[in-house]
This record gives sequence, C-alpha cells and structure tokens, in this order.
Amino acid sequence: MADGVEIQSNLEKINKKIEDACVKAGRNADEVKLIAVSKTKPMDLIREAFKAGQVDFGENRVQELREKHPELPDGQWHLIGTLQRNKVKYIAPFVHLIHSVDSEKLLQEIDKQAGKNDRVIDCLLQMNISDEDNKHGLGESDVEAILSHIDQYPNIRIKGFMGMAEFTDDAEIVRQQFRRLRIARDSFRAKENSQIQLDELSMGMSGDFPIAIEEGATMVRVGSAIFGIR
Ligand SMILES: *Cc1c(COP(=O)(O)O)cnc(C)c1O
Repeated sequence: MADGVEIQSNLEKINKKIEDACVKAGRNADEVKLIAVSKTKPMDLIREAFKAGQVDFGENRVQELREKHPELPDGQWHLIGTLQRNKVKYIAPFVHLIHSVDSEKLLQEIDKQAGKNDRVIDCLLQMNISDEDNKHGLGESDVEAILSHIDQYPNIRIKGFMGMAEFTDDAEIVRQQFRRLRIARDSFRAKENSQIQLDELSMGMSGDFPIAIEEGATMVRVGSAIFGIR
C-alpha cells in the first residue's frame, strides 16, 4: 500500500533526525521517545505506523482517542490536548500518559477516575512557556502548589512537564522557550518523591523537534511530518 510505504519512510526519516539531534546534543537516541500524533488520521495509517514499529500515539481529543484505542489496544495511547473534567472517565481505563494537565481540579478528577479503575495514571503538567497570552498552561507557582500536596492524589504520578513553544520562524525564540521548561523542571527536581519523578520533558512538534531535543526533550510529539498535513 502506497500510504504504508510512505509512513514507514517518514518514520525512518524522523527517527534519523531524532538521532542526529541527539548526536549534536551529546545525548543517546534512546533518551528521546517519538509520540506519533495521529489526530484526524484514519486507523489504516495508524496501523501501518504500528507495523513499522511505532508504539506510542498521541491524540488531542477524547472522543477520537476513545474510538481509536480499541482498534489498536497494543499501542500506547497519549492524550496531548485540552482535557475536560467530565471526559476523564472515558480514557481513565487505558490512557498511557496525559500530557496536558493544566489545573489542579483536573488532576483531582484524574485521581478519582484512576482510583475507580484501580490504577495509577501517569501525568505531565503543562506549563505556559511562551510569551503569548493565548497559550495556556500552568505557571511556576501553580506547579509549586500542586507538587507540594500531591499526596492528596494517591492515584497520580507526575512524570514531568509538557510545553508548547510559540509559532514563529525565529528558532532562537523557540529555543529559549524550550529552555525555560527544562530550567523550570530542574528547579522542581528537589520535590521528587515516590509520586513525583520529573524525568520527562514533552516538547517539540514537526516544525521544531530538533531544537527541543537539543534543549532536553525526552518526548517529541510529531504529527504532520509522519502522517502528512491535516
Ligand atoms: C497536533 C499537535 C502536535 C503535532 O503537531 P504537528 O505540527 O503536526 O507535528 C503536537 N502537540 C500537540 C499538543 C498537538 O495538538
């Protein structure tokens, strides 16, 4: 199938670019995980990617995630977009990692639903790293507060942070914003405990993932460079 071949070669290209960025940054390629962002894309393309060795998939809408997961239960499914509290229950049984926790109330609901499903759900806290007003995410003081009473949410494990850089052609601005997330993460390291392990930095998309890797990304969320434009 023509599409399949293309997806396999796109994946090879992205993985090679990840490797190159790691070499440039003096990092091991196995420190960076590729999340294939499959939103709006049909299952046959996603299965082709899975057959080519891609395991982690990211979706930004609950409804789509819920429909796709049973079609490929062996994949690891990530929620990367805004999550409404009343929809947590639909993904709590299976979601691998929620990248987009942007409020304590949301975290509280994830904890509750994780408990109902007898599991611990891994989460990243989404931080606002850009200077644009329209980008949402937590500020440092919000993160500080959440981490300091995380023991109220025993079914949550915080694995790190997610951030989105501004849409700009200025690579230096993008780099500074990714760096901000890494510096923030480093400053919260002191809070690590059995529920808080801040190893993961989810940052970088099709247009900027090499920069993100140079600045310490451990997960890159790449959609259009694998599956084509949406
Ligand atoms: C869509 C999306 C991506 C992937 O974007 P591409 O530019 O297609 O790689 C990454 N992260 C989030 C949060 C997204 O919504």
